[in-house]
Amino acid sequence: EDSLFLSYFDEFMALEPRVVQPREPRPVPRPMTEGIRFEDVDFSYPDTDRTALQGVSLTIRPGEITALVGPNGSGKTTLVKLLCRLYDPVAGGISLDGIDLRTFDVVDLRRNLSVIFQDFAQYHLTVRENIRLGDVMLDEADTAIEDAARDAGAHEVVSRLRHGYSTMLGKWFDEGEELSMGEWQKIALARAFVRDAQVLVFDEPTSALDPQAEWDVFQHIRKLAQGRAVVLISHRFSTVRTADRIHIFDQGRIVESGTHEELVALG
Ligand code: ADP
Repeated sequence: EDSLFLSYFDEFMALEPRVVQPREPRPVPRPMTEGIRFEDVDFSYPDTDRTALQGVSLTIRPGEITALVGPNGSGKTTLVKLLCRLYDPVAGGISLDGIDLRTFDVVDLRRNLSVIFQDFAQYHLTVRENIRLGDVMLDEADTAIEDAARDAGAHEVVSRLRHGYSTMLGKWFDEGEELSMGEWQKIALARAFVRDAQVLVFDEPTSALDPQAEWDVFQHIRKLAQGRAVVLISHRFSTVRTADRIHIFDQGRIVESGTHEELVALG
């Protein structure tokens, strides 16, 4: 039985990345000034003929919160995957401060991005390790870990746990403590906050949080957005209206863009 799983592992390890590394990469500009531009981007997932994105153009600027809204399957997460270079566009281009994303080292690019996907991981590790995975260069004892936890509203959760930041999470291990969805989400937020990234992406970051915790998190996201670019994907009206610019997706296209007031005026 176990050797069956090992063969999956072997197959996985033998996968060749589709994303090609440049031979002479350029360093990612720090701080970036203009931001990230999607220009007329088309994309279909490998081995499908359905277009996931079609003619998408938008700019993600530092110092701003950009919100992406639209029905399920309209392409919002796909846009984020292209931003992270998990895939490359089929047509059109993505640039950072005018430089094509494909000219950066992939690791360097990703170090500048902090992303929480909707299906964020719940690591059966200690709280400290769960947060530190956001930036593995940090020392175990770095105070940045607790700072990030406070900003994410996770510190109170942790202080109720038997061994504080050393508590094992999840139920895989005997001494592990299970958290509620909302508590796991706060840990995931702390993991995103701990990385000194220039672009922060939150895909439904507060769906499991109560209104008070959501409010607190957004106050902090606002603060983080000073000098950084924040991308928010959300179905929640209360979340989206705080954004500086809102893009509405439908079937892989952007159908309307503007501030909350502009969009309301458009009807
Ligand atoms: P959203 O984030 O707006 O809910 P997605 O970007 O996840 O939408 O999905 C856009 C489209 O791409 C959908 O039609 C979805 O079925 C398809 N899609 C998403 N991920 C994959 C994948 N890994 N392989 C093939 N198709 C996918």
